[in-house]
Amino acid sequence: MNSSISGANSGTNQTLMGGGGTEAARRGGVSAAGFIGGAEAPLGTITGFAAAFSSFSLARPQIMPEESARLARAERFELQAVARSTLPGHRIRCCLLYRRPNTASVEVRRSSVSGLAYYAGLQVCGRGAVCPICGARIAEHNRGEIQAALDVWRGRGGVPALLTFTMPHYRSQGLAENVKGLLGAYRALTGHRSYREVAGAGGLTHSIRSLEVTWGRQNGFHPHLHMLGFFGSGYGAAGLRERLPLLWLAELQRHIDITNTDHVLERGVRFQVGFPAGAEYLSKVGQAWGLAEEVAKANRKKGRGDHYSPVQLLCHVRDGTLPEAAAVYREYAEASKGLHFLQWSRGARAALGLAEEKCDEEKADGEDQGDVVLASLTAEEWRAVRVGGWQARSRLVELADYDEDAALGYVAHLVERFRQASGGVR
Ligand SMILES: [Zn+2]
Repeated sequence: MNSSISGANSGTNQTLMGGGGTEAARRGGVSAAGFIGGAEAPLGTITGFAAAFSSFSLARPQIMPEESARLARAERFELQAVARSTLPGHRIRCCLLYRRPNTASVEVRRSSVSGLAYYAGLQVCGRGAVCPICGARIAEHNRGEIQAALDVWRGRGGVPALLTFTMPHYRSQGLAENVKGLLGAYRALTGHRSYREVAGAGGLTHSIRSLEVTWGRQNGFHPHLHMLGFFGSGYGAAGLRERLPLLWLAELQRHIDITNTDHVLERGVRFQVGFPAGAEYLSKVGQAWGLAEEVAKANRKKGRGDHYSPVQLLCHVRDGTLPEAAAVYREYAEASKGLHFLQWSRGARAALGLAEEKCDEEKADGEDQGDVVLASLTAEEWRAVRVGGWQARSRLVELADYDEDAALGYVAHLVERFRQASGGVR
């Protein structure tokens, strides 16, 4: 049983997560390693991409999409359909299926950044926590902004660091209750005078916190927080490492029942990227993800061991490899309502040169007016694509990546099939 689960799991995630590392390399983003220690990103990632890119870019001026990104997009269409049927009545039911009221037609466009074809003019749910398509778009948008903020901070001689705050959790506890306790404790911690003193001594000026939720058979839901701190260069000597665990324990005790205080002191706060003792972690994870990915795409990472990410849970629902997966996903979706998974500290965005934050629906629409329009579909054409299910919607953009004529031919085929199915009545 176990081997079949982990087998299905790793295969799925290879496809899903494949775009992450290469995307970072392709965009030339500053990895955590490059930022702090001057180490280089894994060679395989960069050279692998460069080889693929040059062979295409010489042949055609258009940016050719990465195969891993095309596979990931196809899988997101499929997993969105799985999420839709797992969550009846959820807002995801309309996502990328129906035209937005204020748009003339559904268009197929090609992104000038990724080279991937996509649909424009459709409603999106913007529920990044549960919708695989909106989630990927929102995470990518956040990643870009965090990277820009890190670049500004680096230019000012600052140092970024990543901390993780966890809490003890048991299978009997509900997620909503745990998240409430976790967020309450974090809010109280960051408002506490002692925390402000010790963080201030380290030059902590801004921060971004992201909420990540995983689930495991043994201990149930495991909500935890990542905090990306924008520190001054002398932060290492400020005593954060010694004092923060005690402060965190005190706040957790005020918000949830804690039986094992030693556990919290030992593992409640993890000093990751950017801290001296985090060098090992940096070499393993930082190179592949970079800090921006680590924070922005927390819920899209591959879980470790008995910890499944929400996306992995959906894969299990699809594959039928984890009996509890659908019920767990439903509880996760319910508890996620209204939560801010990513939050910038007050004033951080303006101070780091970013505009006012967009809402998740705007981040999720993924449209760029400058992108090439490959096709404008009539109402009937879109209906024919829509009734073809996720497979038809996925297939159409796959064809449009390389060949608009083939894509249009496919639409004509779908319309024909649709007319036949509806007995000639349009
Ligand atoms: Zn959506």
